[in-house]
Amino acid sequence: MPQSLGRAVVLGGSLAGLLHARVLAEAGWRVTLVERDRRSEGAQFAGGVPQARQAHLLMPAGLNAIERLLPGTTALLTGEGAQRFGLPTDIRWLTPAGWLDGFSPRHTIVSSTRPLIDWALRRQVLPHPGIEARDGLEAIGLTVGGRRITGVRYRERGGGERSSAVLPAELVVDATGRTSRTPQWLTDLGLAAPEESVVDQGVSYATGLFRRVDGGLSGGRAMYLQPRAGRNPRFGVLLPVEGDRWIVTIGGMRGFSAPTDLGGFLAFARELRAPDLYELVGGLEPAGPIHGFRPPPSRRRHFERLADLPEGLLVVGDAACTFNPMYGQGMSVAAQSALAVHGLLGGGATPGARGDVGLPAFTRRAQRAVFRAAEAAWQMSSSEDLRYDTTVGGRRGLLLKLQHAYLDRVLTAARTNRVAQGAFIDTLSLTAGPTRLFAPGVLWQAVRHGGARGRRAED
Ligand SMILES: Cc1cc2nc3c(=O)[nH]c(=O)nc-3n(C[C@H](O)[C@H](O)[C@H](O)COP(=O)(O)OP(=O)(O)OC[C@H]3O[C@@H](n4cnc5c(N)ncnc54)[C@H](O)[C@@H]3O)c2cc1C
Repeated sequence: MPQSLGRAVVLGGSLAGLLHARVLAEAGWRVTLVERDRRSEGAQFAGGVPQARQAHLLMPAGLNAIERLLPGTTALLTGEGAQRFGLPTDIRWLTPAGWLDGFSPRHTIVSSTRPLIDWALRRQVLPHPGIEARDGLEAIGLTVGGRRITGVRYRERGGGERSSAVLPAELVVDATGRTSRTPQWLTDLGLAAPEESVVDQGVSYATGLFRRVDGGLSGGRAMYLQPRAGRNPRFGVLLPVEGDRWIVTIGGMRGFSAPTDLGGFLAFARELRAPDLYELVGGLEPAGPIHGFRPPPSRRRHFERLADLPEGLLVVGDAACTFNPMYGQGMSVAAQSALAVHGLLGGGATPGARGDVGLPAFTRRAQRAVFRAAEAAWQMSSSEDLRYDTTVGGRRGLLLKLQHAYLDRVLTAARTNRVAQGAFIDTLSLTAGPTRLFAPGVLWQAVRHGGARGRRAED
């Protein structure tokens, strides 16, 4: 291990916290990973990550980033029953422009429940000698000296104010998710809270696990029925996961929420844009209760713009940016952010922070890297959400209308043209930025095929 760079405290021991803790430890920081929950050994649901009962698809970009940071994670997941399949060839996929026939697998998906992903990451990260994991501690504030972070105030979970104490640290990484209190903690210290961009699409989810039937889904391993703005804002996803099960999530944009009793769940599934998911799931044996979840609005906190952000504070993962989960981006963005921070730290080969640029410059650069890692996903999800009249916030206008019209053409072309399909899949999977959709070859196909109505969806 490189010579110690100092003490870092990472708040939140879920996906973003684990990955960033590992990256820091690898670079030579002595890391204390503080988690409010008391975690069990296995792949169990944890109350601190309530969304973990819902379907979680790790996009290829996220899986690639995790595999680069933690080689062997894919094998660990598949060893526990996570399912591999090709994107887009193994997905029965109803896009807003109609059914998509995959030409060839461009990427591999490794599909599992969210608790299994978190378990695999804990297995990979926590044995690092530079990391001390402390469960059952709740962060309740920051301490500063002048412009610098000096530590974190915390208390035992369930303990009162009397159990509170300070963990000294030169670097504090907030990975406490979308309920992060850093904006409030900054205000408590007399500092400015970050500006926020908010897009409130009012999405809601309901998810059940069902026993998988071999060959039950002809022509694919997974199913994705996307909503269509102005027509039917309901969506459905079916993914194979460990334990010979399918995880089935259905939901809708504002005003369309799926019930959590089996009868209501199936009745909602029947109203999706195609009957395929209802027809399959209606005949399956449930493998547990159905759980609902109402994700909060998509929110981007602009810590990178704060002039008086204390030196040594970094905010990552959902604490910095949450998305409409329908596009499956959050985990991948957190993983790409960890990879970017890893790069700033010299890729683990040489200590970067303090060695090269000093802590204040490192945290500023790292916060900007976190922002950049989320940029494409934020632009994509927030602009797609604005197709719905019921979405509140965001910026509408002529430019957005033109963007939607162009993307409609690319998507229509993607159904029958290999070049357009490749660009669409790469952008969606976050392995390419949105500029890929404007490459000359794609543009040409959008002009050529994009106006054709062809084999549209039933709606
Ligand atoms: C319904 C739904 C479905 C989703 N589906 C997908 C998907 O398909 N693909 C995808 O990539 N993403 C998906 N996401 C997004 C994904 O869940 C998040 O992006 C991801 O969990 C972010 O990780 P995180 O570590 O930043 O935060 P979280 O996973 O939310 O973890 C925060 C952690 O901080 C801990 N914590 C909180 N407060 C404190 C405190 N004060 N002190 C100490 N610890 C604390 C919590 O206990 C928790 O362990 C979905 C989200 C939702 C809501």
